[in-house]
Amino acid sequence: MKIGSHVSFSGKGLLAAAEEALGYGATTFMIYTGAPQNTRRKPMEEQYVPEGLALMKEHGIDEIVVHAPYIINLGSYKTDTFGLAVEFLQSEIERTAYIGAADSIVLHPGAYTDKDAQYGIKRIAEGLNEVLTVNGRVHIALETMAGKGTELGRTFEELAAIMDKVHDNDRLRVCLDTCHVHDAGYDIINDFDGVMQEFDRIIGLDRLAVIHVNDSKNPRGARKDRHAPIGSGYIGFDAIHRIVHHEVAKGKPIILETPWIGKDKANQRPMYEAEIALLTGNAEGRFGPEFLEDVARLRAFFDEQLGHPGRNGRDYVLATWELLQDKKQRAEDKREPMERLYDLVVEHGLFPDCSEEQINMRLVGYFAGI
Ligand SMILES: [Zn+2]
Repeated sequence: MKIGSHVSFSGKGLLAAAEEALGYGATTFMIYTGAPQNTRRKPMEEQYVPEGLALMKEHGIDEIVVHAPYIINLGSYKTDTFGLAVEFLQSEIERTAYIGAADSIVLHPGAYTDKDAQYGIKRIAEGLNEVLTVNGRVHIALETMAGKGTELGRTFEELAAIMDKVHDNDRLRVCLDTCHVHDAGYDIINDFDGVMQEFDRIIGLDRLAVIHVNDSKNPRGARKDRHAPIGSGYIGFDAIHRIVHHEVAKGKPIILETPWIGKDKANQRPMYEAEIALLTGNAEGRFGPEFLEDVARLRAFFDEQLGHPGRNGRDYVLATWELLQDKKQRAEDKREPMERLYDLVVEHGLFPDCSEEQINMRLVGYFAGI
């Protein structure tokens, strides 16, 4: 399985990115070629590409993913915004081709802002037609979106409509984001097979190139786009486990973009290493048998403390998110389910020798039901 996460490309560029990914036990990874929120980019010659590729090769990583910055908008009617997006994507194709090991640039299709969806679809296709005048084998993978604001790509039909209008659409692919499609209303929890049949009928499964795996802080159809660590949200570990082991995901880069966790914003840590190990069934190999024993202790502790937390805390997690949907309840206590469980563990001194990060990783293990 090719599984990894978003990693930083700053400092020593591809070398730093590969080192970070290997630290999580990843077999692929995703980068932004610079800050995700702007379009300033250093020349690729300064990004330690040969060094990064050598390290990747040594560890058998042969495919990575590039994500375009989320501020560019091909759907904009404004000449300068649209022009910047086209120009940026053309140079991004060149940067991605330079890396060699990256085949796809993930792109949020765009937002129609003050116009309408029809306009946005046409405009994005117009932009892609211009972008794709730059030659190269690199694909653009349009991402499925949650449907917040006026963003497009909320349905498979919208993605297909954009692709239909692009001449060289052999160079277009799709990135499926589990949080986004769930938020957009697709039932990937109970009927992933059905959702994939629909994807196949409308877009074609041969177009599926990348999978983003994230849990969601909101119920299906909420159109919010707020990611959660695997198992701590509405989708749950079991549904995500089924997706990453589904035949449609075979051989494709599976990328985590789950939030970093920690009470102090400056010291938050990613859960990627635990998420990767748990999704690949390698928790014991990665963290040793003590990790499993700790998770068993957690389970016994929560069973006792919470009465009926449900299988792997599912009932507790969902009930807490439901509570947080209510403004008044949220004003009283805005802590998310995972933070509440963490506090309970600390309050009872369950793991006095563990860091906050280690406790949180054990919580992810609890959600995974190991
Ligand atoms: Zn994205």
